[in-house]
Amino acid sequence: MIASPLLQNLSGYINGRWVGASTSEKIDVFNPATGDLLARVPNMAADETTAAVEAASAALDSPQSPDARAAWLMAIHDALHREKQELARIITLEQGKPLRESVVEVEYSAQFFKFFASKIDALAPSPLPEKLRNAQWTVHHRPAGVVGLITPWNFPLAMLAKKFAPALAAGCAIVAKPADLTPLTAIALWHLLDQLSLPAGVANLVIGRPAPVGDVLCAHPAVRLISFTGSTEVGRLLMRNSAPFVKRLSLELGGNAPFIVMDDADIPAAVDALMLNKFRCAGQTCVCANRILVQSKVADAFAAEISKRVAKLRVGNGIEPGTDIGPLINQAAVEKVKRHVDDALRRGATKPADAPVDPSIAAGGTFYPPTVLDKLPADAVMLQEETFGPIIAIRRFETEADGISLANNTIYGLAAYLFTTDTQRIDRMTRRLRFGHLGINTATGPAAEAPFGGMKQSGFGREGGIEGLMEFCEPQTVVTA
Ligand code: NAP
Repeated sequence: MIASPLLQNLSGYINGRWVGASTSEKIDVFNPATGDLLARVPNMAADETTAAVEAASAALDSPQSPDARAAWLMAIHDALHREKQELARIITLEQGKPLRESVVEVEYSAQFFKFFASKIDALAPSPLPEKLRNAQWTVHHRPAGVVGLITPWNFPLAMLAKKFAPALAAGCAIVAKPADLTPLTAIALWHLLDQLSLPAGVANLVIGRPAPVGDVLCAHPAVRLISFTGSTEVGRLLMRNSAPFVKRLSLELGGNAPFIVMDDADIPAAVDALMLNKFRCAGQTCVCANRILVQSKVADAFAAEISKRVAKLRVGNGIEPGTDIGPLINQAAVEKVKRHVDDALRRGATKPADAPVDPSIAAGGTFYPPTVLDKLPADAVMLQEETFGPIIAIRRFETEADGISLANNTIYGLAAYLFTTDTQRIDRMTRRLRFGHLGINTATGPAAEAPFGGMKQSGFGREGGIEGLMEFCEPQTVVTA
């Protein structure tokens, strides 16, 4: 079992108190690298979620000043840095990613608190310069109200930070529900919050199975906004369930990112970028390249170079130094990757390389060897579904028009990457690629300072940037005669 000073209370947190430890029904949390039981956390249900919403609603009756909110955001930023190593250890133990990636996740999360602390001034009332109809017009940015935050398991801290920081900056009160595969990082974050004496009810944490918690967040009239990161399927369900209450939603959904390599690309640079992008979190991120689209003239060279690099990757327990890739989150994830790889091979793809997992490491954990597939056929399942695993699957194409059409041939529109040295081509292709985040000769992911979010069925709303703050605000126009 896990022991940590940041996990002294293995429970939820409602109205400034730890709640749920006496709940008889528990959720077991496992280490995906070993299969070991890490902790048993309460399975909180509808009653506790309702109590959390009501505590949050009551907290809104005592609005906090912008200065106070900025001070808390900076205090959380500082606490994350102070406890960086311990938080990273907890992330790795419950999520599986290599420790150095977990450290980066904590630093990245802290940036959101700092950035939104610095942007609170943007919420000051802004008088219009025009005196319309002989009156003074002023735009205020009111907090959206009680907000429900629902987050996935792949970045147990960062996905929460991207929502929590702007929500607190805007003056909202929060009810958060982390994924039940990785609740420990959220509990650790609330240990830090508990030390910062935020007013009771401003930040509540509910740990539990998704439907009972989600149903309350969708149906309770006091919840005015649900900010969700996860699958498109669950995003659709939340839209349906909250439609009768005309609730605002901010949805960060699935990705299926294309990584396009044109025949004039700098191949070594593209290979370096793909190695960094693809294997972060063992390929389980929404911005991981899922479809590697390579123009046929350079496809042999690209496949050969990437295969050499993949064969050298070290798969293992993320807590051990030197591990490049940890386990997948659970056995269901392994089965999905197997299904996609088997499908591609059955339809005629080739397998130029993989990096087999040492059997002594594989026992007990949910590992999948990093693999390169080439000559992916047009009907391969992985061209349509996110694989969420350490697979580089190359689909060859002929012309620029083919590349654009292949890239856009998906219901998703989150992230895409384009490698070419032709500036006119960059201009032409950028305008036609329907993705919210587009890397040109880089495969880097989002940053606190810039808006990030999807087009098409990857969702709507943005996280990061001033746009990410406005998601949690309601403009109110006050006209004074
Ligand atoms: P998921 O199954 O949709 O779960 C995400 C969250 O929703 C979890 O907290 C889950 O709870 C909860 N949930 C599930 N059913 C629910 C319901 N009926 N009501 C309320 N909440 C419910 O997604 P996942 O498998 O964890 O994450 C992978 C997906 O997330 C991928 O598609 C990936 O692309 C996407 N993602 C997108 C972004 C982005 O920024 N766009 C970032 C990261 C991940 P439980 O875990 O307790 O079941």
